[in-house]
Amino acid sequence: MSSSGLLHLEYRRVLVAMALGVACWFATGHASNAVVASLFALVVLWGWQLSRLYRWFANPEDVPPLGDAAVRGVLHDVYVLRSRGASLDNSRSLSPVYRNESFESMREAAMIINARNELLWCNSAAEYLLKINRVEEEGKPLRDLFPGKALKNYLKEQNFQKPLRIKPGPDPEFCMQLEFSRFGASDKLIFIKDVSEQDKVERMRRDFVGNVSHELRTPLTVIKGYIETLPSLLAGPNAALQKPLASMATQVGRMEVLIADLLWLTRIETVEGERKDDLVNVSNLAASVVAELRSAWPDRDIQLLAESGRPLRGDERELGSALSNLIVNALKYSEKGPVKVRWADSAVGPVLSVEDKGLGIAAKHIPRLTERFYRVDKSRSQQTSGTGLGLAIVKHVAVSHEAKLFVDSQLGKGSCFRLVFPASRCADAAASD
Ligand code: ADP
Repeated sequence: MSSSGLLHLEYRRVLVAMALGVACWFATGHASNAVVASLFALVVLWGWQLSRLYRWFANPEDVPPLGDAAVRGVLHDVYVLRSRGASLDNSRSLSPVYRNESFESMREAAMIINARNELLWCNSAAEYLLKINRVEEEGKPLRDLFPGKALKNYLKEQNFQKPLRIKPGPDPEFCMQLEFSRFGASDKLIFIKDVSEQDKVERMRRDFVGNVSHELRTPLTVIKGYIETLPSLLAGPNAALQKPLASMATQVGRMEVLIADLLWLTRIETVEGERKDDLVNVSNLAASVVAELRSAWPDRDIQLLAESGRPLRGDERELGSALSNLIVNALKYSEKGPVKVRWADSAVGPVLSVEDKGLGIAAKHIPRLTERFYRVDKSRSQQTSGTGLGLAIVKHVAVSHEAKLFVDSQLGKGSCFRLVFPASRCADAAASD
């Protein structure tokens, strides 16, 4: 109720009391009686109103008492304030119930675990998906529901950026994806999805590419053999055949490289989720990759700066192939100038970088470079016999080592590809010896 309304109400009440006083004055002829009567009338009116208000306060569930319009206004305002307070209290005290009800109504399976990774609660969808009974499982460790190392390691690392794919077995096709988010003091909310179908499709695609590549190897070896022996079988020098045979040999060589890259990519993808924990001496690895490429590109200057002696937890073969792809690209896409390979520590973690002073890449191409078969300049890639899979391999190696690939490049000035690994992947220098 507005203050003007309140004034209006009191003004009317005082007027009524004064009118009563004047009537009393005329009736008795004494002015003092008028004052007493007015005051008495006011006290009665206010007292009556107050008593109604107190009666309602004692029983707040009742509707507010009706009075004249202005009184109703006051009571209505008090009523609204009280109801608002009550609903706030309700929402606070009911919040866990409310929260549980809202999770319960969801189709996605959800569960809540505490800081010790014990199950606090799960909805019916989770009960159905995991074939469990909430009451029986409450308080039990999450690893009882998802046995195996994957969950144990995931929880140990406490890095919930990437969802966890898990096959809790015994059905090898049953695959689940767990997405964790922290909430409250140290509880975690987990959304669980059945991704068996998605996993199957991805596996089929991988298997298909792998099988086709594998099957192509035998016929290719036969063709290659004939191309190599054909010139010696032909009677006399046959100049007309020299050129097509040389071209066939080149194409077969390209197909061999392509198949090798496809098979390697399939292998890396297949083991991507696996933990790679071997201690790799990156300085030594880089030295051997560089030595190999120096002999393959004798007229190029490949410089190695191994500034860190710290070993990295990972897979040596994968890391070697990523580095080799980056150096070969640097050599292919620069005509002269040194190629600098650097292994160093940084504030965010160890960095493996390859820098060239070559063609450079326009900014618009950079986000797509790691796509399979994406080429900035098709004709140039064909000249350099690129397969278009080199950077896709680098990206997969980066993902499986939790590293990030950064590309800094300027057209005509050169490029720098950096693999930045998390500091947690580094071990002490003594550990690898
Ligand atoms: P490719 O086998 O064609 O080299 P990649 O996947 O290794 O395939 O590289 C994709 C494309 O990225 C290349 O075709 C090339 O255009 C570009 N590229 C990669 N590395 C460099 C580099 N160091 N300098 C300039 N362009 C590069």
